[in-house]
Amino acid sequence: MSRGLSPIPLPPARAYRRLYARYGAQGWWPTTPRGAEVPRYHPGRGAPVSERDRAEICVGAVLAQNTNWSNAEKALGALHSAGVWTLGDVERTAERSLAGLIRSSGYFRQKAKKLKAFARHAASRGKTLGRWLSGPLPELRRELLDLWGVGPETADSILLYAGGRPAFVVDAYTRRLAARLGWLRRPDYARTQDYLVRRLPKSVRLYNEFHALVVRLAKEHCRAKPVCGGCPLLDGCRYGSRLRKRETFLKAYSSPLVPGAI
Ligand code: SF4
Repeated sequence: MSRGLSPIPLPPARAYRRLYARYGAQGWWPTTPRGAEVPRYHPGRGAPVSERDRAEICVGAVLAQNTNWSNAEKALGALHSAGVWTLGDVERTAERSLAGLIRSSGYFRQKAKKLKAFARHAASRGKTLGRWLSGPLPELRRELLDLWGVGPETADSILLYAGGRPAFVVDAYTRRLAARLGWLRRPDYARTQDYLVRRLPKSVRLYNEFHALVVRLAKEHCRAKPVCGGCPLLDGCRYGSRLRKRETFLKAYSSPLVPGAI
């Protein structure tokens, strides 16, 4: 393959700048303003300002496990309609009722248990969420990972979006992008996170936007079946370049002007 069609993968910082230039601030994590029932994005707001927002982000991070955001959002809407806004409300709601309210998010019985466990643990810390999540980062991350039902993606989402802490969130879209661009051959969670944090400035704002922008790219271009035409990262993407080369070859081969073409 010629050098022009097998590019050196775009470095993460440049990928970020391209994505930001294309899509702008994404306003994650979406939270529900007073008077509304479903979450909204807040471009330019930065870290959450209220305890209620922090609680909603923690709950949303659990609800979003193994499902898409719109299912988690429906579950949040149902919780809010039932008056469940805070972790204290989660604690006070019977597990069965909670499970019924969050049915749309899938695995609802398990998730109800996870939410109860999380709310109980947060209450046991005897602090506001804001204060609890401002503790020493490595210990806090371990504490979250020790909770039943909290894996690395959920823990880092809570730290970054609810706590405003520099924890880089990796999801399936990030791992897919890492493999396709050529950053990593086997992009598991820890390796992908390590690769990116070593190459990006340690910045809450950047981590916040980076994750959200990757999700946006995954919806618009880097889908399971990628739509590479028009992708802002195409010229620095190994997978996209190979795909483009194959398409060019097939087009040329099927042309009646090419000798031997059918
Ligand atoms: S959409 Fe295509 S070009 Fe863009 S990052 Fe994904 S595989 Fe690469």
